[in-house]
Amino acid sequence: MKVNQLTEHYSVTAQISPDDIERVRAMGIDVLINNRPDGEAADQPHSSELQALAEAAGLEYHYLPVVPNQLTVETAQALDRILSREKPTLAFCRTGNRSTQVLELRNRIAADSSGERSVQVLVVGGGAGGLATAASLLKRDHRLDVAIVEPKSEHYYQPGWTLVGGGVFSRDQTIREMAPLIPRGARWIKDAVQEFQPETNRVLLESGRVINYQMLVVSAGIKLDWDRVEGLSETLGQNGVTSNYNLDTAPQTWRNIQALKSGRAVFTQPPMPIKCAGAPQKAMYLAADHWLRSGNLKNINIDFYNAGGVLFGVQDYVPALEKYVEKYGINLEFNKNLVVVDGPAKKAFFENTEGQREEVGFDMLHVSPPQCAPDFVKPLANEAGWVDVDQATLRHTRFDNVYSLGDICSTPNAKTAAAVRKQAPVVAHNLIAQLKGDESVAIYDGYGSCPLIVERGKVVLAEFGYGGKLLPTMPLWLLNGKQPTWAGWFLKATMLPPIYFDLMLQGREWLAAPEITSAPRLATT
Ligand code: FAD
Repeated sequence: MKVNQLTEHYSVTAQISPDDIERVRAMGIDVLINNRPDGEAADQPHSSELQALAEAAGLEYHYLPVVPNQLTVETAQALDRILSREKPTLAFCRTGNRSTQVLELRNRIAADSSGERSVQVLVVGGGAGGLATAASLLKRDHRLDVAIVEPKSEHYYQPGWTLVGGGVFSRDQTIREMAPLIPRGARWIKDAVQEFQPETNRVLLESGRVINYQMLVVSAGIKLDWDRVEGLSETLGQNGVTSNYNLDTAPQTWRNIQALKSGRAVFTQPPMPIKCAGAPQKAMYLAADHWLRSGNLKNINIDFYNAGGVLFGVQDYVPALEKYVEKYGINLEFNKNLVVVDGPAKKAFFENTEGQREEVGFDMLHVSPPQCAPDFVKPLANEAGWVDVDQATLRHTRFDNVYSLGDICSTPNAKTAAAVRKQAPVVAHNLIAQLKGDESVAIYDGYGSCPLIVERGKVVLAEFGYGGKLLPTMPLWLLNGKQPTWAGWFLKATMLPPIYFDLMLQGREWLAAPEITSAPRLATT
């Protein structure tokens, strides 16, 4: 008699004979279940005969017949009642298959009624990283069971918000309905993850439901920590205070720029890392360009208060930017962090690295808020709070079935949608290779890109990877990223939105194919 143990208390076997009953008892079984309808075969013992023998041997006996392919919920519920008593149970049918199916149905029903579900690949976040990865996964294997947890009904094209603040795009141009963006073949769970339980491969949702997963991809973005600057939330959108980091105030930036004819305009940059490290100064250059063209620049003093010590993290692009700083007459203040805003008094307070405060009056204040990893990723996070992944494979350093990309992950690249474009194929490749037991590994080289808009119609296109290594996509003769070019502007304002929506979010990996190596998985870096 070949017995297959499926759970701690439940085993299955093929048809037993009357002679097997004593053996079953000797195995320590308390409950015997017959899932085979009487009369299927001539040599099959009748259930009443087996029942009499089983009960004489001290076994509890249940006749739960399953007609092939006609398994009922009632049978699964009956099994559930039996198993709830946690007694050693053996079920049989002709081969053991139907007894296995009853358990599977019972598990599914039990999971549904307790709010639990199982998913092969669970993607957390329906932003740039989540949608692109889901699409890339399904492009590679359309049979994958993929679900995306995302609470919002709308998806935002955040790289467009700088252009909203510069009067180039409308707010609505950066918003799309979420539903049509969910890749075909993926399910959308309109909910938010409240807690990760990676030891048991589960996430707890805000609705109270639980999702079990085989593989997890986390791309839930960065947290904008407005409240870390005292008084900022209360005054944002009023008193000349605005930010392109918020969809609702990006149009206000443009209104403030147009309204300012003279006075002092202050732009801030918080400590790194932030998403799109160039965005704080792009807002400033677009404003300065408008004031120059409208003839008001001579009456406006511009200050750039930067919590960091350099204008841009990759030195190769700094000379081109410095020329614009000079052209617009911008005063640069380094290592000064915005800590308080008093909107009604139109005063901002900055702290230097020694903790000394400086009070600065303003007529217009553009704030780029402090940013950090969201708290709920803690069970997956490194000491700094980011989801802790290998910087080449994007696989979690402690949980093998977890991947992460985008702003929330620990990789030291520029946090941009451009980085996501290169990361999503890496995650898709490595996750599927892992599922299939394939040794090949896709490598992420740290690519990120920041189109630094220096005036309307000109962009310094920074493209670089880990360690600041320059990684230009185009040949130099076509687009020299270290110089302000119209080609860079055309890319930013015209080409990148369709590249984002029609290629990246659809799993079309144009110019984004990763390097694949057949070497064994890389060690954690
Ligand atoms: P997001 O796209 O922010 O998506 C995160 C998603 O996770 C969201 O949909 C959110 O609702 C969801 N989520 C959050 N919490 C939960 C939860 N608990 N459960 C489930 N889902 C959750 N990039 C560029 O490449 N070029 C640029 O020029 C550029 N300019 C920018 C300018 C501005 C002003 C800003 C704000 C950003 C800019 N970026 C730019 C950065 C780019 O938008 C981000 O790097 C990119 O969107 C990151 O993708 P992501 O998937 O990590 O996060």
